[in-house]
Amino acid sequence: MAANTIDTNAFYQESCEANYVKVSDIARNVAWTTPTEWGDLQITINLSKPEKDPRAIAAAAKAGPSEKPDYVDPATGRTRPCPLCVTQEDVDCGYARRLDLAGDQWALWYSPYAYYNEHCIAMSWEHRPMHIDRSAFESLFDVVDVLPEYFFGSNADLPIVGGSILSHDHYQGGRHVFPMEVAPLSESFDLPSFAGVQAGIVKWPLSVIRLRGADRAQVIGAACAILDAWRSYDDPRVGIVSHTGETRHNTITPIVRMKGDQYEMDLALRCNITSEQHPLGVFHPHEELHHVKKENIGLIEVMGLAILPPRVQQVMEERGMSRDDVGRVFGQVLEHAGVFKWDAEGRAAFGRFIAQLNG
Ligand SMILES: [Zn+2]
Repeated sequence: MAANTIDTNAFYQESCEANYVKVSDIARNVAWTTPTEWGDLQITINLSKPEKDPRAIAAAAKAGPSEKPDYVDPATGRTRPCPLCVTQEDVDCGYARRLDLAGDQWALWYSPYAYYNEHCIAMSWEHRPMHIDRSAFESLFDVVDVLPEYFFGSNADLPIVGGSILSHDHYQGGRHVFPMEVAPLSESFDLPSFAGVQAGIVKWPLSVIRLRGADRAQVIGAACAILDAWRSYDDPRVGIVSHTGETRHNTITPIVRMKGDQYEMDLALRCNITSEQHPLGVFHPHEELHHVKKENIGLIEVMGLAILPPRVQQVMEERGMSRDDVGRVFGQVLEHAGVFKWDAEGRAAFGRFIAQLNG
């Protein structure tokens, strides 16, 4: 039966001792911070994980669990039909714990190759696609209610702007302060229908609305109103296209954390429209930055922690780049992913979207 809480200190320690968390491998990663106008960005060169091409991720997005279980779990060595399909065996051996979220069966485990402290994954027991909607927001609030010591966030539910796995519903969490969390608000605004919620625009290269309030129903209500408005929002002046025929392009990367007795929710507005000039995405790192980053800008990077592939070490040598040079390129990568830029045109466009929320 699912527990309604987990002792994360004990579970994390057990996961390390059992070598489900590859502590010694993680120690090989190269990590540093680079001061930028967006704060101290965090950079990690991951020396264990292969880089994925955004087009391959898009192709795999609709896949079900494979017929033969051919994915080898790096933590347990067991094969599974998909990287995130949990079995009772995983629970029995102590690798995963069960969790109830929004009345639904979930499981939690620690990422074998953690990108930050106590990097955990919450995944639905059922194999079903990622989705960003009210039920996802409810589940995210449920998980921080149960584990208030951790932040939790979800990748977006569309290719290019989502994470590397779109076919299995999951969130990432952990005990870590990301640069975005400490970024200040550049301005505040009211949401008259949600008087108990403070809202503002975060001074951050991606376009992020921050909500804060003690009343969870109000914060979730405000988040749903913003998601609904954003999903169908077009602004051709700044390249935002919500639909091509039936195909939707706009979505949100949501993050939830507790600040004392208040919920704090960051909503990064995303758009995966492509163009002839930018076939991998208009709001995706453009080609001139691909020597450092061409993968999807997922949840972790949205928050200001770059996970760069090993080849970047070689690029640094060949181009004579310092670590801070790489950090500054990562700042530009995040700027490319922002739908409302930080020039006068972009700020005016963000203002128009906020005005529509209250219209
Ligand atoms: Zn699965």
